[in-house]
Amino acid sequence: MSPEVNPFESLQEQIDDASDYLEYSTDVLERLKHPERVLEANLSVEMDDGSVEVFRAYRSQFNGDRGPYKGGIRYHPQVTRDEVKALSGWMVYKCAAVNIPYGGGKGGIEIDPRQYSAGEIERITRSFAKELRPIIGEDQDIPAPDVNTGQREMNWIKDTYETLENTTEPSVITGKAPESGGSAGRVEATGRSVMLTAREAFDYLGKDMADATVAVQGYGNAGSVAAKLIEDLGANIVAVSDSSGAVYNPDGLDARDAKAFKSETGSLAGYEGATEELTNEELLTMDVDLLVPAALENAIDGDLAQDVQADIVVEAANGPLTPNADDVLSDRDVAVFPDILANAGGVTVSYFEWVQNRQRFYWSEERVNSELETIITNAFDDLVETYEETGAPNFRTAMYVVAIQRVVAAAEEGGIWP
Ligand code: NAD
Repeated sequence: MSPEVNPFESLQEQIDDASDYLEYSTDVLERLKHPERVLEANLSVEMDDGSVEVFRAYRSQFNGDRGPYKGGIRYHPQVTRDEVKALSGWMVYKCAAVNIPYGGGKGGIEIDPRQYSAGEIERITRSFAKELRPIIGEDQDIPAPDVNTGQREMNWIKDTYETLENTTEPSVITGKAPESGGSAGRVEATGRSVMLTAREAFDYLGKDMADATVAVQGYGNAGSVAAKLIEDLGANIVAVSDSSGAVYNPDGLDARDAKAFKSETGSLAGYEGATEELTNEELLTMDVDLLVPAALENAIDGDLAQDVQADIVVEAANGPLTPNADDVLSDRDVAVFPDILANAGGVTVSYFEWVQNRQRFYWSEERVNSELETIITNAFDDLVETYEETGAPNFRTAMYVVAIQRVVAAAEEGGIWP
């Protein structure tokens, strides 16, 4: 991982790259490169021992031209204002890439949640929800889970919001437990869109998924579900990793069994289905047909990209390649399918959750999965059409061209408010 790369600058560079294939003036582009507003809050929270700790928290509302701001909330010690701004921008272009009616937002708290009790996390979360209350709402800004947050935190935010607003409004947040208005299929949605993108990519590039070799970096929600569903297509998951390191078996690991092992022991270290343990760097440079980075941003920098041997990269994580890595892989003709398409399943099923909450009418998991498949395959078709029409150098730039055109078209319809 390259902490020196500022993800906000990466986002801006991606927009600049796409602008070469668009005919917009610099003032239009400038607007696309900065958030509309960022909330920065100091959360003062009482700990179990009676002391008070202060936490830095952010919510960036990047662009609302296509609908309410939408995006997750991350709990991580490396959360910064710029990281949150970048992630909120990626949400704008992700929602536009798959054509769902949202703008983009993102939030985060600078915290290592493993150091705190469940009660402390609840108080920290409710304190953040209190700060968010004036700026969120089903038609304003709809948070969701991200790294180190899940149904539990979403339920607390919903409960805090509803209590303070004296209402019931489950659509203020997505990624909730089914009992609180969550959608069927939400937990698996991100991994599912990664699988669908990989399937379409193999098909487009004329490659066979059966017996393809696959390495997955990061074995949390996105990575482990993607591995399982890609395995179901007949591929061989030969290596997977988490923050403890990577495990490898040239004959293929059992993706579900590896997940069960990690859930039981807390990490992949010592997994008995592996024949070898590797470093994360070794995993990222393995000679495989498909590499799925599913951990955090900046996992592959320009130097490491020189050694990447995979033919296809499908990004489950947000921003796993630095701009330098992107250039290197593009020059080396490695086909990279971008995060804003591949991991859009999460926000797409969040959208379905919001629709169901607003209608108070709930869908079966089959319907959710089938509607998701339609959205991702349509977006993939839009991507390859633009890639072929514009001559864009890679799939990321082509996807940004599609997404930026949609955001600008919506902004132009609205006009400029004086
Ligand atoms: P998660 O916390 O469930 O899993 C993250 C995994 O990455 C863990 O297994 C962790 O051990 C591993 N990891 C951390 N640092 C690592 C490193 N240096 N090397 C290898 N592994 C490492 O998080 P998640 O929800 O799966 O999210 C992963 C990525 O996918 C993030 O970039 C997130 O923004 C993105 N994403 C997630 C969703 C979603 O719905 N979960 C949606 C869109 C995008």
